[in-house]
Amino acid sequence: MRPFTLETVETIDAALRAAGEPASGTAARLPGSGPTTQFLAGGTTLIDLMKLDVMRPALVLDLNPLEKSQLGRIETGPSGLRLGALVRMADAAENAEVNRSFPAIAQSLKLAASPQIRNMASLAGNVLQRTRCPYFRDVSYRECNKRNPGSGCAARDGFNRAHAILGTSDDCIATYPGDFAQALMAFDATVDIAGMQGIRTIPFSDLHRLPRSTPDVETTLRSGELVMSFTIPSGPWTRRSLFLKIRDRESYEFALASAAVALDLDHEFVRDVRIALGGLATVPWRAREAEELLIGKILTEATLEGAADAAFMDATPFEHNAFKLELGKRTLIRALRQAAEMEI
Ligand code: SF4
Repeated sequence: MRPFTLETVETIDAALRAAGEPASGTAARLPGSGPTTQFLAGGTTLIDLMKLDVMRPALVLDLNPLEKSQLGRIETGPSGLRLGALVRMADAAENAEVNRSFPAIAQSLKLAASPQIRNMASLAGNVLQRTRCPYFRDVSYRECNKRNPGSGCAARDGFNRAHAILGTSDDCIATYPGDFAQALMAFDATVDIAGMQGIRTIPFSDLHRLPRSTPDVETTLRSGELVMSFTIPSGPWTRRSLFLKIRDRESYEFALASAAVALDLDHEFVRDVRIALGGLATVPWRAREAEELLIGKILTEATLEGAADAAFMDATPFEHNAFKLELGKRTLIRALRQAAEMEI
């Protein structure tokens, strides 16, 4: 690991001020590996990537004292759920109200990582975690547009079994690795973001950027900005929701395919439905075409298959991941069936 400066910040203002100042230090910035100043919470992504020499921040700002502030709180009310950015994954996963009223959120967190990591990792860190593409994480590969812009993409012609089939570009096909983000997408969450100019709120669906020709720019966060919280509005669909994750092994593994679904049923008719897919796309992926096909329908075999086909209409499989097309459809159909059968 390269040398870096570690500063502990005690207030949100101090964090923003420190992040707004140009970082000094001995570590050089590696293009594409992220800003020279990084916020530290659980450290379960950042420290890994610093050890691998993928990320080389000169300044690391330890946010952990802010856990006692609003950033560390879970708040529920009639209008919805607010999850502070520094809430640990395990705490949100075990929260009674989250489990009762937003089960897809709790499940997406419980199925992620290991208990030790869930105890450490923060919600914002989880959402902002970086891809598991092995060519990104191994600096001995020069070709990686995300880590080294303009160098090419080793995965396109390499071993791409775990890579994305939705939202890919000529320059990057890396899968977005998280689970929790899919639940936030399905629930139309919003994100509060603090910067030196104040706090702004954006739809969660606007946080991650498709790779297009600049896969090194992964989010719409501006320099020095800090994610404060996620707000999930209440809706008639949140209780009948679930997160289904398919992976190579049943523990401590990333998704090959996942679906966060939420249903509002009028008897057997779909009044409203929300679908987000994971393990299959370069960003948390909302399947709006599938949702539109399901509204007003009964969930028959034909309806479900039609929706699944619509969800993957624009998919682009690569040499080793063509199986994800069928797997993704089956995952979505199974998740919808299970949600329809939930007793709420
Ligand atoms: Fe890099 Fe993206 Fe290609 Fe992986 S898929 S090698 S992250 S450019």
